[in-house]
Amino acid sequence: PKIIFSGIQPTGVPHLGNYLGALKQWKDMQDNAREADKLFFSIVDLHALTIPGNADKLRQNRREMLTSLLAIGLNPERSTIFYQGSVPQHAELQWILSCTASTGYLSRMTQWKSKLSTLTSTPLSSSFPDPTIASPALKHGLFSYPILQAADILLHRSTHVPVGSDQKQHLEFARECVTNFHSAWSTHIFPPPQTISLDSSSSRIMSLQDPTKKMSKSDPNPKSKIFINDDEATIRKKINSARTDSISTTVGEYDPVNRPGVANLLEILGGFTGKTGEKVAEECKDVTLAQLKMLTADAVVAGLEEVRERFLLLGEDTEVNRKRVKETEEVGTQSAKESAERTMEKVREAIGLD
Ligand code: ATP
Ligand code: MG
Repeated sequence: PKIIFSGIQPTGVPHLGNYLGALKQWKDMQDNAREADKLFFSIVDLHALTIPGNADKLRQNRREMLTSLLAIGLNPERSTIFYQGSVPQHAELQWILSCTASTGYLSRMTQWKSKLSTLTSTPLSSSFPDPTIASPALKHGLFSYPILQAADILLHRSTHVPVGSDQKQHLEFARECVTNFHSAWSTHIFPPPQTISLDSSSSRIMSLQDPTKKMSKSDPNPKSKIFINDDEATIRKKINSARTDSISTTVGEYDPVNRPGVANLLEILGGFTGKTGEKVAEECKDVTLAQLKMLTADAVVAGLEEVRERFLLLGEDTEVNRKRVKETEEVGTQSAKESAERTMEKVREAIGLD
């Protein structure tokens, strides 16, 4: 049987990119899983601490992400849905793994190097950026982030981890952590986690306002993205004002390089109809851009309708909802803690901390 693990940071209501690129696929995985398979979906609040914040905001974001996961159709009776921070074993295992993790390997991580280059003047091309580089903006949590990610995965002895291409390197590192840990302590506890690639065509939905950049939670412009709880009028307005081009008034060929805005609409439309952008382009090549926007808006509105309704319903501050949220949190925490403790007993024994 498979043990599937994936996580998402509680940093705001998910957008269409998060939905098509990850969350919808989590839901499909849940629905297609076999009886004996286990699924863990974590709201990774400890990871979110790398973005300096505010306690009330984090509290709100955690709840909002839980509501989002329920709204997209994850079922707490089938999947373990939990806050990472409510299961202290994640941090415990991170420390233990960090004692056999290589700083050299960590400093070669693309995500770290790109933070390094934004926060300091270190060039991204630098082959071995010095992790001790003195900049008050560089925090250790950002550097050791992949170790926490490895701990998340290994703690539940996960066999399959669905990730986008940006996370493949971190998965590779998690496997390295397994090897290092096993050889340091002459033990064999963790199955090496396999990557399930989420790189379908919709693995990169682009910003509606600048289709050369990916749609992103951290983009301050709300018109650049569609949230899973946007209403119909908002969805139509945002898609109508999506940036395309004046190369042609019809769809023509699928051409993400020269016509990124059009290609993005094709990807979005395809994401909801189970087709690739290329395939949609073939079918719509004589369609005008105005019509394409309408078709895309129709597909998004219809595709998100149920999600949005559930989101609104669950988000209402009622007695029933408060109870449901509390129960979901308790059930998830309990189940994740049991799974974590089963692993940690083995780990503590292997290293002499039992
Ligand atoms: P941030 O800008 O803060 O990094 P984000 O929008 O990239 O936020 P994450 O929380 O980093 O969101 O990612 C959650 C999941 O959504 C990940 O699996 C990631 O691969 C996926 N994802 C994020 N943006 C997109 C996108 N534009 N297209 C497809 N998938 C995406
Ligand atoms: Mg991201």
